[in-house]
Amino acid sequence: MLFQEVSDSFEKTKKTTSRLEITSILAGLFKKTKTADIKRLCYLLQGVVQPSFAGIEIGMGEKLAERSVSLTTGQTQKEVEEDYKKTGDLSKTTRNAMQKRKQSSLTKDDLTLEKVFDNLYKISTTSGSGSVEMKIKLLSELLSNARPEEAEIIMKIITGKISSGFAEQTIISALNESREGSKESQEELERAYYLTSDLGDVAEVLFNKGFEEIKKVKPVPFKPIMPALAERLANAEEIIKKLGECVADYKYDGFRLQVHLKNNEIQIFSRRQERMTHMFPDLIEAVKKQVKAKEIIFEGEAISFDEKNQTFLPFQVTITRKRKHEVEKRSKAIPLRLYAFDLLYLDGEDYTKKKYVERRKKLEETIKEGDKIHLSTQKMVKTAEELDRYFNEALKKGLEGVIAKDLNAPYTVGARKFAWIKLKKSYESKIADTIDATIVGYYYGKGKRTKLGVGGLLTAVYDNKNEKFKTIAKLGTGFSEEQLEWFSKNLKPLKEKPENVESILKANVWVEPLIVVTIKADEITKSTIHTCAFKEEQGLALRFPRLTQIRTDKKPSDSTTEKEVIEMFRMQSEKQA
Ligand code: AMP
Repeated sequence: MLFQEVSDSFEKTKKTTSRLEITSILAGLFKKTKTADIKRLCYLLQGVVQPSFAGIEIGMGEKLAERSVSLTTGQTQKEVEEDYKKTGDLSKTTRNAMQKRKQSSLTKDDLTLEKVFDNLYKISTTSGSGSVEMKIKLLSELLSNARPEEAEIIMKIITGKISSGFAEQTIISALNESREGSKESQEELERAYYLTSDLGDVAEVLFNKGFEEIKKVKPVPFKPIMPALAERLANAEEIIKKLGECVADYKYDGFRLQVHLKNNEIQIFSRRQERMTHMFPDLIEAVKKQVKAKEIIFEGEAISFDEKNQTFLPFQVTITRKRKHEVEKRSKAIPLRLYAFDLLYLDGEDYTKKKYVERRKKLEETIKEGDKIHLSTQKMVKTAEELDRYFNEALKKGLEGVIAKDLNAPYTVGARKFAWIKLKKSYESKIADTIDATIVGYYYGKGKRTKLGVGGLLTAVYDNKNEKFKTIAKLGTGFSEEQLEWFSKNLKPLKEKPENVESILKANVWVEPLIVVTIKADEITKSTIHTCAFKEEQGLALRFPRLTQIRTDKKPSDSTTEKEVIEMFRMQSEKQA
């Protein structure tokens, strides 16, 4: 397939913000794509050359990319940099430079999708001495054969910006549309993707074998599964009304891990499907000792535990185990316990489709007693009083609350459903739960904070239907000096408001929506200056928001959704009524 087909479609998507239109443009592109190319195309549309959990970034710094542009177009690197300062977008700068290029275009080879993919793949896997020159050469080779609009997309892929125009959900809808699928087949495709986290693979199965085979996709060890998420309800009565007799599980305030084991090899993934195996040598040992299975995928919450005093340690302590350095030292200083709470796959069998009670029973049979891995503590409850009593018991133990689980529900991959309902404490504020929001911009600091650059943050929740971030709070308090410095270092400034952010407020500096923070607030209030729920409630905002945590374990798309905020707002109003 000619790469020009991809760039033509891409040009069309730039002219619209309607998700439906973007979907049908991409569906049109997929219709023209041969099976041999579909995997490559799906990966490139996600800005990767392998599924993201492989952890391989295309990995070409902007400076190197600028050098390639300079080499290809004959502009000096300084000229490229100057234009980049003006546009704030290296892909636009590249397009400009390519348009000005004087060389004859007659000698050009037509770029194919395969060629683009191959060179980007090589760029991502080249390392060691001579790799810098090699990467520049590989990119220059592509650019020199590219039309300006093709060069722009190549650069968008390299700089990780391709996915700001559309997210995975849109690609899945487009795949479905290209094969004239139904709503049902759309759900099957989503499920297959959530089960394997590998869109390229799912698309290939669809193109090769059709929807019937998509239905048969099951978990595969070492491909992370997207986690089931918990819903909220206001209180124990509502939970019992919804679920009837259910099980209440202690809710541990640590981080979620997914353990994969096959033929004695073990890998551990985070909640956002990153491989973290090397961070937890202590847990790996424990899995070897305590898990009786040839092949298994199970989930649990890792939390630091003070064995001497038999108490759980706070999240801030636990999260320090999520570092790449001094792994051994940390694992001794901050021992973890893993509270296993669900089974997804065992010895060739897909457990996600089975009832909760069956999964739990098998999990209990599979994990041997030991001191590191425990089963989550739980109790069957029939009435709201029983549930409340158990909830209070959990709080006394220093836990966050409980999660009620539907005894008959399957494991709802990648989705927030009423199969799990969380109940958290709400002493000090009207809303029990915290909000996870993505930082979309910041304000300059005053006084002591001027020096650090960042003073306040503009944060947004996620409208997952339209793939947009919508603002909900300006955060000005709760930061430690250390966190401010961290923000200054890690926020990625942009020249303009990103396309996937909707905001009435203007930030001093817009940033790439990459970093998620947990916010505690007193209540959700109406506000006409925020875009969250603008259609439904003329805007919702957080009252007295304060930062409680930086959540490097969450992806921007894992932020609390706009829909959830609306539900929380309604729950809160009912409580007051
Ligand atoms: P939240 O992040 O507040 O929506 O709550 C859901 C999270 O609670 C899950 O993603 C897990 O990381 C965590 N969790 C802690 N204990 C449990 C448990 N017993 N069962 C399921 N999830 C749990």
